Amino acid sequence: MAECGTLYLVATPIGNLEDMTFRAVRILKEADLIAAEDTRGSIRLLNHFDIHTPMTSYHEYNKVAKAKVLVDQMLSGKSVACVTDAGTPGISDPGEVLVKMALDAGIQVVPVPGACAAVSALVASGRETGRFCFEAFLPADKKQRSAVLEELREETRTIVLYEAPHRLGRTLALLLETLGDRPMSICRELTKKHEEIRPTTIAQAAAYYQEQEARGEYVLVIAGKDRRELAAQRQETVRESMSVEAHMQQFLERGMDRKEAMKAVAKERGIPKREVYAALLEGGESQEQE
Ligand code: SAM
Repeated sequence: MAECGTLYLVATPIGNLEDMTFRAVRILKEADLIAAEDTRGSIRLLNHFDIHTPMTSYHEYNKVAKAKVLVDQMLSGKSVACVTDAGTPGISDPGEVLVKMALDAGIQVVPVPGACAAVSALVASGRETGRFCFEAFLPADKKQRSAVLEELREETRTIVLYEAPHRLGRTLALLLETLGDRPMSICRELTKKHEEIRPTTIAQAAAYYQEQEARGEYVLVIAGKDRRELAAQRQETVRESMSVEAHMQQFLERGMDRKEAMKAVAKERGIPKREVYAALLEGGESQEQE
């Protein structure tokens, strides 16, 4: 039996051809086949780098059927290099399906790293980079979009989103409505001539793009919810929804002793222990008087 071929995930530039890596060029030259999301777009790249490897189309609308064909070709010994429109295959494009099917078939998958719009935007955004979440594009379906936005409401990590120019204004308005105003950066046309990285706030950006037509490619990098603010909101909700006595009871029923329960109640309500103690005394006294 022939030895299996390999699946290479080859990152390509997101605008600036100088971001093509030496390794990407070599792998694309050496592969038996290039599976490209947009063959017409990729041909320009291949011509530029003098790459003559045969190309086949692999895109959103044929991804499942075509992935099976590509997997069979790799099982018969051919090496396939997957390239998508731009950037890193597998990030918000059909690459993911091919990777899963290749791994399921026991084929080796090799990443060939390079440009990625999400990471480029994040690192230059000026927002916290230590913890972040990537949501790609918000769903077009209204119900699904609301569900995602609801999940993001309390997200404390930096949020990275892709957005198409024709939907940018509407998305910013929705973000303002759901997340409230907070710092964000608009990262536009990265690595291209008109690259722009603009630290702003959601409210300012929403107002700006109501007036201005959005043009080009955008990544939105939004500050996560402030952890202290989130904790204070949660404490307020607990204080409003339950009496100190009922709160104590919850912890006592979980097996805590009185001292431990008072400490936990104080923490969850964001109040000093002496206030818990005072409330319990007051509650006990008023019950005794009744
Ligand atoms: N796989 C790609 C990657 O690694 O970034 C992303 C593909 S996704 C279909 C395309 C989206 O990425 C665009 O709509 C835009 O939001 C973002 N994008 C791609 N190139 C960009 C650029 N040069 N500047 C800003 N955003 C870009």
